[in-house]
Amino acid sequence: MSPTPLRVSWPGTAGKRLEIMITTNEIKERKEKGMKEKIVQTAGRNSLGEFAPDFAHYNDDVLFGENWNNHDIDHKTRCIITVVALMSSGVTDSSLKYHLENAKKAGVTKKEIAAVITHVAFYAGWPKGWDVFNMAKEVWTEEAASQDAKTAHAAEMVFPIGAPNDGFAQYFIGQSYLAPLSTEQVGIFNVTFEPGCRNNWHIHHASSGGGQILVCVAGRGFYQEWGKEAQELHPGDVVNIPVGVKHWHGAAPDSWFSHLAIEVPGTDASNEWLEAVDDTAYGTLK
Ligand code: MN
Repeated sequence: MSPTPLRVSWPGTAGKRLEIMITTNEIKERKEKGMKEKIVQTAGRNSLGEFAPDFAHYNDDVLFGENWNNHDIDHKTRCIITVVALMSSGVTDSSLKYHLENAKKAGVTKKEIAAVITHVAFYAGWPKGWDVFNMAKEVWTEEAASQDAKTAHAAEMVFPIGAPNDGFAQYFIGQSYLAPLSTEQVGIFNVTFEPGCRNNWHIHHASSGGGQILVCVAGRGFYQEWGKEAQELHPGDVVNIPVGVKHWHGAAPDSWFSHLAIEVPGTDASNEWLEAVDDTAYGTLK
């Protein structure tokens, strides 16, 4: 990613301009912070709290409470290392299943776990590879494939995906999600589109000020103004949408996509929703 800070500004009150700068370092930092959700484990106390209280304490408070919450290596890497350690030791019981599920939750895709198991099988032993693959197949099922893609997309992103965007579903083709990040001063929403999802043509109106700024945060998408070529969007791209311009935004046909939508404050601001983006025209986008 480019080290250049992204400058996002909009007209504020009393003639001042408001501005945020988002640097790649800040994005990285926020991503690390976002991953620092405390891991809590109670399996030790649940199973052995009476029989072996010390063991239960070391398991829940030290191994999980402290070591799993150490961030010198990232969470996804730690999950993969744990799977590799269990596989190499020939442990293929319910604890391996738990750690495979954990790895999947951390954003490890089917393709990635297949590569990990194949790699380790050369060093730890072919039969162990067979054992672990049989278990991994149950965790990364075909039905869960689209869920995997969503999980992997979420893991690439600092901001949450949020809830299904039911309130605006009538103006979208496909499933979108909405996470309000700021609902005071300036409205900032993280909008996520599943592959193929896009909003209808629409116009942001205002008698003064107004418009919308898109800050792309993950995946690949498109922005198109009426009468112009669609513009491909990648993380870090910023789109300034002036008032009165008919446009749409959404995902690429084969990729999840998220952008922040920043509402530029304006007088008499409103949204005019128009027709859906034509399937044939959208279908020509790669
Ligand atoms: Mn818009």
